[in-house]
Amino acid sequence: MSWFKRSKKSIEQPTPPDERRVKTEGLWTKCTGCRAIVWKKDLESNARVCPKCQHHFRLTARQRLELLLDGRWIEHDAQLISNDPLHFVDTRPYADRLKEAKRKLNISDAVMTAEGLLAGRPVVCCSMEFNFIGGSMGAVVGEKVTRAIERSVEQRTPLVIVSCSGGARMMEGTLSLMQLAKVSAALSRLDEVNVPYISVLTDPTTGGVTASYAMLGDLNIAEPGALIGFAGPRVIEQTIRQKLPEGFQRAEFLLEHGFLDAVVHRKDLKGYIANALDMLLA
Ligand SMILES: [Zn+2]
Repeated sequence: MSWFKRSKKSIEQPTPPDERRVKTEGLWTKCTGCRAIVWKKDLESNARVCPKCQHHFRLTARQRLELLLDGRWIEHDAQLISNDPLHFVDTRPYADRLKEAKRKLNISDAVMTAEGLLAGRPVVCCSMEFNFIGGSMGAVVGEKVTRAIERSVEQRTPLVIVSCSGGARMMEGTLSLMQLAKVSAALSRLDEVNVPYISVLTDPTTGGVTASYAMLGDLNIAEPGALIGFAGPRVIEQTIRQKLPEGFQRAEFLLEHGFLDAVVHRKDLKGYIANALDMLLA
C-alpha cells in the first residue's frame, strides 16, 4: 500500500481537458477578404457579405433561393439521385461520397430547382450547391437543370440559374460531359420561344458549367470578386507559356473584357434581376 494514496476523493472533480476552454468557436469567423474577425450574426444578417470589405461569402443553394425568392417556393425533382453508373472509386468510393454529402446537406445532388416569385415575378430558379462534391455537374444536375428549363419553356416562365461549381463531375466520366450538350440544347429551345434566361455566376463558376449554361444567359451577371473561368490559371499558364495578368478570371476583369454584362452586389441582386426581367419581357 502506498503512503501517498489519496484515500478521499478530491473536493471537486477536475473538468476534463477538452471542456476547460470556453467555447467561442462558431460565433466568429475570419473574413477571407480583409482578414478581419467578423461576428457570424453580422455576416448572416448581411446576406453573408463582409460588413467591412464587402467580400461575398459563399451561400448554400437553399440560402440563395431564400435570398432571391419571395417567401415560399415549390421545389422540383428533389428525389432525383445518382446511381453511380461507373461504380467509380478514387481515394474513396463515389457512392460513399454521395451518401455523405446527402446526409450532411440534406439535398439529393448539387443543385436545387424551384419555382416561385422573384419580387412578385414568376420564375423558375436553379441554385447550385458547392458543398455537394464541389458543386460538380453529373447526370443528376444536368437532368434537374434540363427539366427546369423545359418547365420554363412549357409555362413561358423566365429562368434564373445561379451557378456555383467546379465543373463536370469526374466520377461520372463522359456522362457528365454529355450534360453540357443536353442543357445547352434545352436552352436553345427556351431561346426559340423567347423566354428570358438570366445567368448568375457566383464564386466559383468554372469548368463544364462555365462552358455550358453559365455563359449562355440573355444576361450573364456575376457577384463581385467571383472566380469565373474554364481551366485554372496554372493550367493556362503552362499551356500558353505566359504569365497571366493580375485579377485574371475575377468577375471585374471579365466584365472589363466583355465576358460579362454586369457585376452586381448581392444586396442589389434581386432588384437587378427583377428590373432585367421587366426589360427583357417588355
Ligand atoms: Zn472582409
